[in-house]
Amino acid sequence: MLLKPLLQWASPAGASGHLSVLIFHRVLSEPDPLFPEEMHARRFDALCGWLASWFNVLPLDEAVERLKAGRLPARAACLTFDDGYADNHHVALPILQRHLLKATFFIATRFLDGGRMWNDTIIESIRRCNMAVLDLSPLGLGRHALDSIANRRAAIASLIDQIKYRPLAERITLTEQLGHLAGVQSSHDLMMTSDEVKAMRHAGMQIGAHTMSHPILARLTDEQARQEIEGSKCFLEQLLGERVGLFAYPNGKPGDDYTPQSVDVVRSLGFDAAVSTHWGALAMGGDLYQIPRFTPWDSTKLRFGARLLANLRSA
Ligand SMILES: [Zn+2]
Repeated sequence: MLLKPLLQWASPAGASGHLSVLIFHRVLSEPDPLFPEEMHARRFDALCGWLASWFNVLPLDEAVERLKAGRLPARAACLTFDDGYADNHHVALPILQRHLLKATFFIATRFLDGGRMWNDTIIESIRRCNMAVLDLSPLGLGRHALDSIANRRAAIASLIDQIKYRPLAERITLTEQLGHLAGVQSSHDLMMTSDEVKAMRHAGMQIGAHTMSHPILARLTDEQARQEIEGSKCFLEQLLGERVGLFAYPNGKPGDDYTPQSVDVVRSLGFDAAVSTHWGALAMGGDLYQIPRFTPWDSTKLRFGARLLANLRSA
């Protein structure tokens, strides 16, 4: 196949190398009829096989060090996961181990040990609601038909849209009330436990900070942003008994989700590097506190490889 030489050309070794960093969130054990595009075990397994054959996959801290020194290997890539979903431990970890791949997991620490992010409360409530129509007018969130997969998806999208820019406390209260009206008991095993984070680290994976409660940093004061970022760093350092040097901005779009001030806070807290969700690949001399990342979504090998190549060429 022609892809490997093309990747080698777009991403040579040394000072003109480029670092591709991939982002994942969940890796479901089975495909989800509600979100067929969501990553699942079989797809992730295939994708790890392709990545291992095309790229030199290395841990993010090592990639950062080598990039700074102009010693990046050709076709360098890192794998990252955001948020701290329990399926990262149950499903992704054994697959990564089978392919001898190391990844970095960015953890929003407030949700460990039984917590859940507000958007997941919406998704889980709508997924498990038995009603044909869910009336959320008491909350000012409208009535939603749930009689087909398309309608359930539309309801989730509409509810997330209606709630996402409200203050955090309101988002949490509204989504809890929503779950109640949907007649759904919330689950407490969606995110990892602290022990599972430790187990990931002991299995040779890297752990990075991702704030405590996953706020949009751009909407916080510098002091609030500092508390969120430092809080997650300290929690993880205490849990793991070691320094945590990597950070991922929640949602991660420069300007919308974090600002130059957020970057200053991250730098001042002594992190070595931070990742955004802006697409691209990092060249030597690029900003180590805004490393671009890229979400691969194609499910065929050729398209997936072509997408990675295009991402490198856009850098
Ligand atoms: Zn996140």
